[in-house]
Amino acid sequence: MAKYVYMFYEGNANMRELLGGKGANLCEMTGLGLPVPRGFTVTTEACTRYYEDGEAIADDIAAEIAARLELLEKEIGKKFGNPAEPLLVSVRSGSRASMPGMMDTILNLGLNDEVVEGLSALTSNERFAYDSYRRFITMFSDVVMEIPKASFDKIFDAVKEENGAVYDTDLTAENLKEIVAKFKALYRERKSEDFPQDPRAQLMEAVKAVFRSWNNTRAIAYRRLNDIPGDWGTAVNVQEMVYGNMGNDSGTGVAFSRDPSTGENKLYGEFLMNAQGEDVVAGIRTPLPLDELKKINPTVHGEFSKYSKKLEEHYKDMQDMEFTIERGKLFMLQTRNGKRTAHAALKIAVDMVREGMLTENEAILKVDAKLLDSLLHPTFEPGALKAAVPVAKGLPASPGAATGKVYFEAKDAVEAHKQGEKFLILVRAETSPEDIEGMNVAQGILTSRGGMTSHAAVVARGMGTCCVAGCGEVSINEAEKFFIDKNGKKYFEGDYISLDGSTGNVYDGQIPTIDATLSGDFGTFMGWTDKVRRLRVRTNADTPHDAAVAVSYGAEGIGLCRTEHMFFEADRISAMREMIVSETEEQRRRALEKMLPMQRKDFEGIFEAMEGRPVTIRLLDPPLHEFLPQADADIEAISKELNISGEKLRMTIRDLHEINPMLGNRGCRLAIIFPEIPEVQTRAIIEAAVNVSRKGIKVLPEIMIPLVGDVKEYKFVRNTVKQTAEKVLKELGAELEYLIGTMVEIPRACLTADEIGKEAEFFSFGTNDLTQMAYGLSRDDAGKILDAYFDKKIYEYDPTSRIDVGGVGKLMEMAVKLGRGANKELHLGICGEHGGEPSSVIFCHNIGLDYVSCSPFRVPIARLAAAQAAIRDPGHHIEA
Ligand code: ADP
Ligand code: MG
Ligand code: MG
Repeated sequence: MAKYVYMFYEGNANMRELLGGKGANLCEMTGLGLPVPRGFTVTTEACTRYYEDGEAIADDIAAEIAARLELLEKEIGKKFGNPAEPLLVSVRSGSRASMPGMMDTILNLGLNDEVVEGLSALTSNERFAYDSYRRFITMFSDVVMEIPKASFDKIFDAVKEENGAVYDTDLTAENLKEIVAKFKALYRERKSEDFPQDPRAQLMEAVKAVFRSWNNTRAIAYRRLNDIPGDWGTAVNVQEMVYGNMGNDSGTGVAFSRDPSTGENKLYGEFLMNAQGEDVVAGIRTPLPLDELKKINPTVHGEFSKYSKKLEEHYKDMQDMEFTIERGKLFMLQTRNGKRTAHAALKIAVDMVREGMLTENEAILKVDAKLLDSLLHPTFEPGALKAAVPVAKGLPASPGAATGKVYFEAKDAVEAHKQGEKFLILVRAETSPEDIEGMNVAQGILTSRGGMTSHAAVVARGMGTCCVAGCGEVSINEAEKFFIDKNGKKYFEGDYISLDGSTGNVYDGQIPTIDATLSGDFGTFMGWTDKVRRLRVRTNADTPHDAAVAVSYGAEGIGLCRTEHMFFEADRISAMREMIVSETEEQRRRALEKMLPMQRKDFEGIFEAMEGRPVTIRLLDPPLHEFLPQADADIEAISKELNISGEKLRMTIRDLHEINPMLGNRGCRLAIIFPEIPEVQTRAIIEAAVNVSRKGIKVLPEIMIPLVGDVKEYKFVRNTVKQTAEKVLKELGAELEYLIGTMVEIPRACLTADEIGKEAEFFSFGTNDLTQMAYGLSRDDAGKILDAYFDKKIYEYDPTSRIDVGGVGKLMEMAVKLGRGANKELHLGICGEHGGEPSSVIFCHNIGLDYVSCSPFRVPIARLAAAQAAIRDPGHHIEA
């Protein structure tokens, strides 16, 4: 029979799944002999049962709780509800993964009108007894009965004011009695019944409330942001109370075994005397720094330092601890691995290896890969950020912090930049290639439409520019150049806003930022990750500058160079447009001839920046509509250039219009319809490669054919590329090693990967399109749909940012097996946005890819995630 309740001495730290993090660690501390108030844990399985049983605690579980409570009473020698020797408990939630502040704790449970008198007599401390009771009534009413805490606080504050009390501690026993009477009256008024007096009923109601809180809005939102599955459930800890509110020899506090913001190896924390529970963090009185405890009670301070060391050594990680002092005696109430800034994480990892506490591989596993993002981007000043209230929230599309003046058109932003404006934020409904220059000069980008792989998101991540995308809470009027936030406030050109690309928050006004800096620890730590990982890490880069940035972050090659991105700049886009609207091969060749030297020069720059590392270049891919001229002036200019009438050109543009451009004339289809495009692009690549290798720099080009769904498409374009390449090499009298392969991004390519694999030299998974097509969900319009899906619990995460292992991942695995089965030499990588997301990188390791490729700023994340995957699972890869 399943066991649903464990005494603290029956469990240990390995039982996290069953007992939750808090419960498992309370058990572990008990086992280590630390002074932990006694208690028991109701398991996460009981929470799951609660939901299965229709939000009710079944009799067998209720009986088990009652039995364990009785045991606890015996062991402690106090009795629940007995005024002569009252046992009071706290009821604390705790899930497997730490979810700070997500679920509420109830303290001093077991009090009622009689017990409070008993407690008062027993301790000869009426003030303490009534202080505990008023706290209990507030917490129980708030958490269990949904009477907002604010209604109680109002009464509490009024009494304080009437009596000239500055601090809670200034209130007398009489004041507190009055407050309790008023609280009970409020309860009666709201609930039409008296405050519950039966401690056992109080306990069962509290346990149920903790189970319910697993599904409150805060908890659901937190889980989504932190990838915590909804079906885990929470445990409930029932623990004997110890009292920090018994007077000035008592108190409560929180502490970290090392400084969580700098990583310095020094006990860091805060405490308050004569206080309980959340007083320390609630900001009612200013807490004292932990060092002050040395003066107040050196013995307790010494003891706590000792426990802190002991726990750190035991868990081999920095600890975040909670403690209470009851009349000069120390009790440990919680420990867990502490959250820390990225800087602190690296310093602690490196220090602990130096101290001999961790091996390098253990240290690698301790650092959260996602954290590294914040190292490479500016962040807000923590104090200023705390004080700021978001006026809207969108998708955290590209990390970092930005503050600046709002501009609604790329050209206005560019103009302002020319005039010397340094802090700009580009605000658009969505961005398109024409906005590139504006995006380039902006510190931040805000869009109201589009998902995590929309144009704005992808381009911003590549540039390392902060971006909040798909922010439906703002409505943008591009024509009249203003936007409205969720509160109805209007912002015009030149008004300041601030964006947090790591959370998706939008703020009114300026919030000061701090520049990114890299410490020596970064280099040391990343060096360790390189020693153990099997996956190579490449980057997605379209310019020599991005390529060089990526190399400085450790990129070992380019996994995706998008040739069309080279044509976003104003002077180049016209040649591109000309090529697109050309009607004859001759016109098209003329336009392409203009593009050839530009492409060749770009490739030369990239090859040089990569210094011998492999470079995957994708042939022209995008839906053509992204490049069609729209402005009258552009149309005029192009019609002149092509020597046709403006009207004729407009007709051509209309003809080129597609209902469904994402599924239209793009990728290899373009190359098949207009073979002169891959011809010219191949020539540019090969000529550039030969030129650079003649300077003595090794070059390894890999030519990638996009959007292949049928091996015949691949063969057709491959032949054009191959023939051109050989022809060019012959002309130049040169020899060159190069590969031809394909981007795997259409489900049919995965299903027929054996056929394609026989012909291709490499596959690179284009998981942006693969996800879009596997789900049939547009990556540019997913935002609103995803919101609704999250709300309705249909999706728990966004498949455009994390690989959907169950579907898209299956397609990838199949392609790997079929492809390698047909061609042992087949080289495999991923170049979708997922290549820089830790859980997806781990998946790529597990299915045996050779490399991942991601935007430059995510390269360190991918290196770390790849190392973590290799350490956890050194042998794992799929045999063909
Ligand atoms: P959270 O998960 O939000 O930190 P906790 O369950 O840790 O919530 O409870 C918050 C605080 O309540 C603790 O830090 C501690 O100060 C206080 N507390 C909890 N249980 C007890 C107890 N048995 N005795 C005294 N104080 C307690
Ligand atoms: Mg806590
Ligand atoms: Mg694609």
